[in-house]
Amino acid sequence: MDLHELHGVGVGRSVAVGTVLRMPDPIPEPPVTERNGDAAEENDAVTAALAAVAADLTARGVKAGGPAQEVLDAAAQMAQDPMLAEDISTRINDGSTGERAVFDAFHTFQKMLTDLGGYMAERATDLGDVAQRTIAHLRGVPAPGVPESDVPFVLVAADLAPADTALLDLNKVLALVTRDGGPTSHTAILARAKSIPAIVGVAGALDLADGTMVIVDASTGAVIVDPDSDQIADAQRRIEERAAAISAPITNGALADGTSVPLLVNLGNPDEAPGAVELGAEGVGLFRTEFLFLGAQTAPSVESQQASYTTLLQAFPGKKVVVRALDAGADKPLAFLTDAHEENPALGLRGLRVLRVKEQILRDQLTALKGAQDATDADLWVMAPMVSDAEETEYFVRLGRELGLNTVGVMAEVPSLAVLADQVLAVADFVSIGTNDLTQYTLAADRMLGSVASYQDPWHPSVLRLIKMLGDAGNAANKPVGVCGEAAADPQLAVVLVGLGVTTLSMTPAALADVRAELATVTLEQATARAAAALGASTAAGARTAAASV
Ligand code: PEP
Ligand code: MG
Repeated sequence: MDLHELHGVGVGRSVAVGTVLRMPDPIPEPPVTERNGDAAEENDAVTAALAAVAADLTARGVKAGGPAQEVLDAAAQMAQDPMLAEDISTRINDGSTGERAVFDAFHTFQKMLTDLGGYMAERATDLGDVAQRTIAHLRGVPAPGVPESDVPFVLVAADLAPADTALLDLNKVLALVTRDGGPTSHTAILARAKSIPAIVGVAGALDLADGTMVIVDASTGAVIVDPDSDQIADAQRRIEERAAAISAPITNGALADGTSVPLLVNLGNPDEAPGAVELGAEGVGLFRTEFLFLGAQTAPSVESQQASYTTLLQAFPGKKVVVRALDAGADKPLAFLTDAHEENPALGLRGLRVLRVKEQILRDQLTALKGAQDATDADLWVMAPMVSDAEETEYFVRLGRELGLNTVGVMAEVPSLAVLADQVLAVADFVSIGTNDLTQYTLAADRMLGSVASYQDPWHPSVLRLIKMLGDAGNAANKPVGVCGEAAADPQLAVVLVGLGVTTLSMTPAALADVRAELATVTLEQATARAAAALGASTAAGARTAAASV
């Protein structure tokens, strides 16, 4: 087969050159055979295998630390899920072998999650991994995992289990290429956090043979197969430029003419704060509070919330910290807020809409934030997600002020809010643009759906024009308008955003160095010219090219 270039969704911006090493094939499906042995013995063996797998995953988590630990702990919890254990035991008692019972029970559960779609469907892969590890343990064979090699390689797999991604040896794995997975799969999340170039959702990935030379270009989502020497030289140059950018001294974000563009970070847990400060975070542009409570069955108390927020704020003395009120719904259901079944959850009762219905939960959260504001000397800003217009803005700002918060604003994620930006900025202290959702809603493309991933491109001129409306309104009202979606982590787009009037950029900490380096290469005049060129394009690809040619 002639494979010159394969395509998928790039994660991060970096490039790698190396030879392919394929992940070993998964353990084959256990046959459906009659159980010969004793049910009690088989049950005991499965219980022991599940416990061993859980312990192994937990131990790997402790070794990995950070976001990887959360992923591995969640996988360990799956191995100890009582519902699954009961299902397995029932199957064994009904005559199944232990291996087959594990396979069937996990498979049923996996299917249930897949049918739920979105965030839940992406967790289904994790379940499959736990099942494979358990079956391997029962068979006494090694668990499936990343291959060993003496030389660095590009890892190619159908998909990576969280346990594998979390523990990747960064000295050995140059890049990841997977056939499955979308931009929000664990492979993507962990690759981004570890700054490994990755391309997910690559059809044909498994046709790449071991030893094939490839260039993995995450910025374009292309895997170049058997590149020529010019292509390799170009990739090497980009790798060196990036290495230089990353090792450059940490300074505050600024353009070449000295225009300040504060570089902030997106966090989901106070534990991530010290690492972000080390990478030069000038504050927090988005703290996703719902990540603290994804597993909670009941609403968290004011006291426990206040403790978490205080820990976060203490990591940023004198700095700006933007905390977002709970953004529940769609791919992030919270048991205590979202219970209704919806056909189109992204268009449903989510974000501020559900907080307004359950106002006491919102009041408790804002009260906890006020407590943290008073207990620390960070500059706390609070904002609401999924806000549609000035009336909703007014509701949230009024409540925030009533409860004593100093600075209250809203996210721009729904196009209607951008269209009415002047009205919104007359009421809010600031606006922060969530480009992930703004793109999803502007292009009417579910951000969790791989089949429409190509629409999920914040370079689309329609999205850029909405951002310009927000930037202009912020400028006219003399109020800050930041960006906290993934778009801010794309260095070329970050320049365009500044040219559109955006005043701060907030991103995953791993992206800070690249964005800082790119901003330093342009003046405000040049950024504005690039923005104007991008606005005139008719497609996302056209906007990229237009901005680059200025
Ligand atoms: C966004 O929508 O761009 C955003 C930052 O919020 P989240 O990704 O949490 O929906
Ligand atoms: Mg959002």
